[in-house]
Amino acid sequence: MNRRDFLKNCAVAAGGFALSSCAAAAEGLVLSNKTLESRIGAKRPNIIFILADDLGYGDLSCYGATKVSTPNIDRIAEEGMRFTDAHTPSAVCSPTRYGVLTGRYCWRTRLKSGVCLPNDPLLIDTKRMTVASLLKSVGYTTGCVGKWHLGFGERGPDWNGELKPGPLEIGFDYYFGVPVSNNWPPFVYVENHHVVGRLQNEIIKVIGTGKDQPILPKRNPEKLALVQTDKAVKFIERSKDEPFFLYLAPCNVHEPHTPNEKFKNTSKAGIYGDFIKELDWTVNEVTKTLDRLNLTDNTLLIVTSDNGAITTGTSADYIAKPENSTGMEYGHRPNGLLRGQKADIWEGGHRVPFIARWPGKIRPGTISDELTCLTDLIATCAVIVGKELPDNAGEDSYNILPALLGEKLNKPIREAIVHHSGAGMFAIRQGPWKLIPRRGSGGFTKPVRYKPKPGEPAGQLYNMANDLGETNNVWSQHPKIVKRLTKLLVKYREEGHSRPLRRK
Ligand code: CA
Repeated sequence: MNRRDFLKNCAVAAGGFALSSCAAAAEGLVLSNKTLESRIGAKRPNIIFILADDLGYGDLSCYGATKVSTPNIDRIAEEGMRFTDAHTPSAVCSPTRYGVLTGRYCWRTRLKSGVCLPNDPLLIDTKRMTVASLLKSVGYTTGCVGKWHLGFGERGPDWNGELKPGPLEIGFDYYFGVPVSNNWPPFVYVENHHVVGRLQNEIIKVIGTGKDQPILPKRNPEKLALVQTDKAVKFIERSKDEPFFLYLAPCNVHEPHTPNEKFKNTSKAGIYGDFIKELDWTVNEVTKTLDRLNLTDNTLLIVTSDNGAITTGTSADYIAKPENSTGMEYGHRPNGLLRGQKADIWEGGHRVPFIARWPGKIRPGTISDELTCLTDLIATCAVIVGKELPDNAGEDSYNILPALLGEKLNKPIREAIVHHSGAGMFAIRQGPWKLIPRRGSGGFTKPVRYKPKPGEPAGQLYNMANDLGETNNVWSQHPKIVKRLTKLLVKYREEGHSRPLRRK
C-alpha cells in the first residue's frame, strides 16, 4: 500500500479507534518526513541510551531533589530537553529492558510478571528486530555495557561455557557487564560470550535465585560503576570514527547501594544519595569523553531509568541493612510526590526521569509534557536513520522525534500507553485519564490486590491532569470513560500491537 492508498483507507475507516490510529500515523509520517529532511540532515548521529536502575522520579536535582545534587545530569537537561510524563513499559527491570530493546510490551512474551531469574533463557527472540540490530543493519557499531538481566541461552545460561544466545545474538557487536542484577548471583562480569576470570575447572552454579549463595570473588561491588563506566568509555573511544549505538545500563541505584569510597558522604541523603552521585559521575565520564573526541554535536544522548525507586521499609530496616536505605530518613523523596514505588501500577512505579540532548536539533533548556514510553526508542531510531519499521517489529513503539524537535502538535503522539506492574497488573493512560481495572498497587506496596466490598468501585480511575498523586478515585463518576479505556486496553492486548501498522 502506498501512502495515498493508506490515507484513503484511513478516510473510509469507520469511526472510533481505527480512524484515530490512522490519522495519528498519517500525521506522524508527514512530520517525520519533513523533519528528517529539514532538521536532522543526512549525517547519522551516534546514539547513547543510558538506562539507570531503579532511579526514581525525584532522585535527580533537575526533577526536584534537594538532598542530593546531580549537576552533570542536570547540565544535560539544560543543554537539551527534560520530559515530565515519560514512562517505563513495566514497573520492574527485565520487562522494561525487553521493551526498550524491542519496542514491544513484555507482557506479550512468556514473562507475564516479575523478572528474569539467573538461570532463565534469553527472553528476546533472536529473529526479532531490536534497536541494536536495526542500527547495526545500517552500519552502526553497537555496544551494550552494564546490567543485562534478559537471560542467556536457548534453555538457560551455561555459566561455565558459552553464554549464547545473548546480547551478541540480538544485534550487539560487544557486551560487557553484570549478567543478572547486582544483588543476584552469579557475582561475575560477562564479556561477550564468557564469564570474566573463570578459572580452569571452576564450576559456577546458581541454584534457584541463589540469593543465599556466597559471593564469588570476581566482582567488587564498590567498583561496579568504575569498571562498567571504563568499558563504556573505551567502547566510545574505539567506535569514534563511525556512527555507534551504546546501550549503557549502570547498576546504580539498585540495592545494595555500594558507592565507591570516593563518593561516600558526597550527598545529604546517606549512602543512597552517594550512589546517585556515582551515577552522576558515570554520566559525566560519558559526556567528557564525547567532548574530548569532538562527538558531542553529533550524538543523541538519552538518560532515563528502568522503573521507579523502592521506598518500602522502615527506619528499623535501614539500621539493620544500611545498604538498602533509600535516603528517606534524611528527608529525600526518591519518587518525588508520586504515589507508590517500584513494581507498583501507580506512577511511582513507572514514571521516570527522561532527558535527551542533541545539540542543534533539540532546543536547550526545554521541557516536554508529551506522554511517552521507553518502548518508543526503536521507532524513533528508525526515523532517525530513515528506515521504516516492519509490522513485526516495535509493535508498541511510537516515533517521538516530533516532540524532541519541538514540533507544535495538535494531538498527542501516542494514542495511549499501557502500564504494567511487577505482579502483572495492567493500567491504561489516555490524555489525562488513567484506568486501572483492579484494586491495589499491583506491586510492592500493600495490599497488592484486593476484592472491593459491595458498592465500592471495581477498579481505579484517576485524572492525572489535576490528581498526580492518585488520591481521588473517580471510577464511579465516569462510567463512559471506564468503558472506553477498558475496551481500548482489551483491543491492544488482543491485537498484538498498539501502534498503527502499515497494513493488515
Ligand atoms: Ca530496575
